[in-house]
Amino acid sequence: MKPTLAGYARASTIAEATAWLAEAEGEAKVIAGGQSLMAAMNMGLAGDTRLIDINGIAALQGIRVEGDRLVIGALTRHAELGRNALIAEHAPLLQRAVPLIAHKAIRSRGTIGGSLSHADPAAELPACVLALDGRIRIAGPEGEREVAADDFFQDVFVTDLGSDEIVTAISLPLAGADETYDIRELSRRAGDFALAGLAFVKRGGAHRIAFFGTGPRPLLARGVMAALDAGDTAGALEALSGDIEPQNDAHASAAYRGHLARVLLSRCLKDHA
Ligand SMILES: Cc1cc2nc3c(=O)[nH]c(=O)nc-3n(C[C@H](O)[C@H](O)[C@H](O)COP(=O)(O)OP(=O)(O)OC[C@H]3O[C@@H](n4cnc5c(N)ncnc54)[C@H](O)[C@@H]3O)c2cc1C
Repeated sequence: MKPTLAGYARASTIAEATAWLAEAEGEAKVIAGGQSLMAAMNMGLAGDTRLIDINGIAALQGIRVEGDRLVIGALTRHAELGRNALIAEHAPLLQRAVPLIAHKAIRSRGTIGGSLSHADPAAELPACVLALDGRIRIAGPEGEREVAADDFFQDVFVTDLGSDEIVTAISLPLAGADETYDIRELSRRAGDFALAGLAFVKRGGAHRIAFFGTGPRPLLARGVMAALDAGDTAGALEALSGDIEPQNDAHASAAYRGHLARVLLSRCLKDHA
C-alpha cells in the first residue's frame, strides 16, 4: 500500500512544531526517523496524515552533561547512542541496548525520542530509560514540562504526550562507578522485536528492573526489586508473575512470554545477584 499524505511541513524550531501541532488539532503527526511512522502509514494505519518534520530543529540534537544528569536530545539516532563517548561513560546500558534494536539501517535513522513516543511495549529503549529512572522532557504550546518515565508510558503505543506536544530530550542520572547494568532479551530472530526482555540496573545496592514485551508498556518489576533489595533472590523469582502482565498475541502466548521472562531473570540474577 502507498501512504496517503495530507500535508508536509518542516519545522525549524520547537515553538514552530508545537504551534503547527496545536493548529492541526490532532490531525498531524511529528516525523523523526520515520522508521515506525512510515511503516504504519504504508499499512494504512495512520489515516490521512499531515506530517511535521522535526529533523531540522537544532535544539533537539546533542548529548550533554547538565549537573548530575545526562541529557540526550530527542533526535539522537540509535546508532549515535551506540558510539557516543558520553553515553558509554554515563549511560552504558543504552549503548549495550543498541545492537538489539532492529537492523543497522533502522538504527541509523531511528531516534530515541521517536522510540519513546511510539511506546512499543517490546522496544528496548523505553525499558532502559525506565530502569535508569529517566525523565522525559516535553514541550508544547503552553511551555515545557518533565515527566518520570514511569508516568510517561501508559499503554500499548500510548504515552502521556498531548497531541500538540513533542519530546525534546531525555534526562538520566549519571551512572555511578559501582553501577551494574544488563539488558537481555529473547526474540525469534536477531533484529526482531523481543518476545520478552529485561533491563537491569543496580545502584548502591538498590535495584531497578524493567521488563519489555511482557505487558502493555514497559513495566517496573517492583516486587522483584524489593526482594532483591532485601537480598532474597528466590523471593525475586517468585514475585515476578505479580509484576508482569504478558498478553496473548500473534507472536506468542502470554504463558510463553511469562516463561521467557522468568528464564531471563534467573539468568540475569545468576550473573548479578
Ligand atoms: C523492521 C523494523 C524493526 C524494528 N525493530 C525494532 C526493535 O527490535 N526494537 C525497537 O525498539 N524498535 C524497533 N523498530 C522501531 C525503531 O526503533 C524506530 O526507529 C523507533 O521506534 C521510532 O523512532 P523514529 O525516530 O523512527 O520515529 P518515527 O517513526 O518518526 O515516529 C514514531 C512515532 O513517534 C512520534 N514521534 C517521533 N518523534 C517524536 C518526538 N520527538 N516527540 C513526539 N512524538 C514523536 C511520531 O509522531 C510517531 O507517532 C523497528 C522498526 C522497523 C521498521
